[in-house]
Amino acid sequence: MTALTKSQPDGTADPSSEHAPGAPLHSPVIDWFDEHARDLPWRRPEAGAWGVMVSEFMLQQTPVNRVLPVYEQWLARWPRPADLAAEAPGEAVRAWGRLGYPRRALRLHGAAAAITERHGGDVPADHAQLLALPGIGEYTAAAVASFAYGQRHAVLDTNVRRVFARAVTGVQYPPNATTAAERRLARALLPEDESTAARWAAASMELGALVCTAKNESCHRCPIAAQCAWRLADKPAHEGPPRRGQAYAGTDRQVRGRLLAVLREAHSPVPQAALDRVWQEPVQRARALDGLVADGLVEPLPGGLYRLPLT
Ligand code: SF4
Repeated sequence: MTALTKSQPDGTADPSSEHAPGAPLHSPVIDWFDEHARDLPWRRPEAGAWGVMVSEFMLQQTPVNRVLPVYEQWLARWPRPADLAAEAPGEAVRAWGRLGYPRRALRLHGAAAAITERHGGDVPADHAQLLALPGIGEYTAAAVASFAYGQRHAVLDTNVRRVFARAVTGVQYPPNATTAAERRLARALLPEDESTAARWAAASMELGALVCTAKNESCHRCPIAAQCAWRLADKPAHEGPPRRGQAYAGTDRQVRGRLLAVLREAHSPVPQAALDRVWQEPVQRARALDGLVADGLVEPLPGGLYRLPLT
């Protein structure tokens, strides 16, 4: 790619390069974002850092259209971390609805409790303090610090990784798990200026979500098509192990979802027999229920009863 003036042995740009290696990409992507960014509630000023944090938990493994209604209800019910922290964790699991991967609800509840206890109810702006909250990993800490507080951080989600893989590294897909080389590249591509860096983080993510998607890259409307290494190389096919699919039907995840749906609907403890009705195969059903209990998503009670957790 012409934008990268100097490379390290692993192929990533050298951040000590005289010219910022990502510079030719910044303006086209940010200008495109200014024109095409979706008007999403967590991007509005009134969302605040708590709204950004809630959205980041929800969006990690769930598409925007499914997140939107749950996000709105969540913020209406729990407009501040302390409001959520004051309720039982099971209420967070109930409100999580069908977003999937419901341990995220427990983690968000845990983070709200820690914010209330340690930070007077305000989501901290400091990256290290964010990272120290329970349930918050490198990605979420960087996303909240960048999107809510306008700081300069590499925010490396699946969309950004795909854009960088194609536009800069020249391959169709990034590795299955984030690598150190990707992190170095993302840091090297960051604009120097803090507010521009925050804008770049949001813009490159939106480009991956709307234009450079996993299945249908729309190069004809991409602002960096003229510089994209993968496109300029005539889009060589993906090499290496096949991409992992997201099987759901027949998996323990599906069984867990059905069991949890029964408990979310109920406002008093549920007998085992009511859970047994949702899945015929007893071994898989028992395994799924045990997993929910082990994850703290379901609380077993004496007498073969179950409920969402109160503590
Ligand atoms: S030119 Fe095509 S492949 Fe390259 S970043 Fe843009 S949409 Fe993705």
